[in-house]
Amino acid sequence: SLYQAADSRYDTMPMRRSGRSGLDLPLISLGLWQNFGDSTPAQTQREIVLGAFDRGITQFDLANNYGPPRGRAEEVFGRLLATDLAPYRDELVVTTKAGYRMWPGPYGEGGSRKYLLSSLDASLRRMGVDAVDIFYSHRFDPTTPLHETMGALKTAVDSGRAHYAGISSYSATRTREAVAAAAEVGLDLVVHQPSYSLINRWIEDPDDSGESLLDVLGEVGMGAVVFSPLAQGMLTDRYLSGVPEESRAAKDGPLRTSFLTEENLRRIRALTDLADDRGQTLAQMAVAWVLRDPRITTALVGASSVAQLDDTLGALAHLEFGADELAAIDRHAQE
Ligand code: NDP
Repeated sequence: SLYQAADSRYDTMPMRRSGRSGLDLPLISLGLWQNFGDSTPAQTQREIVLGAFDRGITQFDLANNYGPPRGRAEEVFGRLLATDLAPYRDELVVTTKAGYRMWPGPYGEGGSRKYLLSSLDASLRRMGVDAVDIFYSHRFDPTTPLHETMGALKTAVDSGRAHYAGISSYSATRTREAVAAAAEVGLDLVVHQPSYSLINRWIEDPDDSGESLLDVLGEVGMGAVVFSPLAQGMLTDRYLSGVPEESRAAKDGPLRTSFLTEENLRRIRALTDLADDRGQTLAQMAVAWVLRDPRITTALVGASSVAQLDDTLGALAHLEFGADELAAIDRHAQE
């Protein structure tokens, strides 16, 4: 049946400006890394994407290699863009990336101009669009001059294949270097996409340069789009009583059951109690926590159902933290 987006879709989702750019992003964004390959029913995928848009999520994050098989998530999303979402394309921020292995041979991964632009063209074909909104270098490539990688991003923008450019998982030092190389070719990097959660705080820690990634992003005016704020589901109620059959940890994927140590489960239970004191679920507190710093533009979550998304979006009802709450969280998350 014909999809019509909810009239209320802009009523409840706050937007945040990405760094010093002109781009607003929703506080919570949806990623299609998992659950958008061949093993999830098309109907579930459609419900999640359309459900997200109805609830004010305007940013959908993809990459060339999301599936499996690689490329499938872009095809799935492309089908939705061609049908249900066709009238709404300009209301959406659709992103993709290149950096990890996509096809065999030397031009199938990394940061070369050859790979990045060929991969972007293939992503545009899979999604059936003329342009993405953000094109990312998915990871730093030590074998390619940054000048070349940034030059390829600049070409992507100048040729109209991307509206903005970003980088993902670059260290503080590499980010400074990338920003300098980008400036030389006349490119603004508007976003950085790092991992960040209660139990993964590397972006707060100084690297060899003495600065943290978060400090660099604040100084250069790039927004942070933080991925896996739920630690792939560990910072939720998902694993409190075993490993459910259909969960990410039960699959042969990126969330190893070896992460679910007694020590981690003890942390998760203690954090759940703190969330409970705030009147939140752990998922809600985990998302609110990454958003407490204004340099974080959006929390980029995944979901295997609309019910999960609804739980996560409940974070928006209580985003503030007292100093005592933050201290208690630090004690339990890091001890
Ligand atoms: P999350 O930390 O949000 O984990 C999402 C998973 O947690 C879901 O698939 C689901 O797992 C579980 N979950 C979500 N909400 C709930 C809830 N309310 N209650 C219980 N369980 C819940 O993020 P992801 O690891 O999925 O990453 C998000 C996005 O970030 C990706 O889709 C991708 O776009 C991006 N990303 C980018 C990377 C990069 O290199 N730039 C790397 C990794 C991710 P289950 O399947 O068990 O139901």
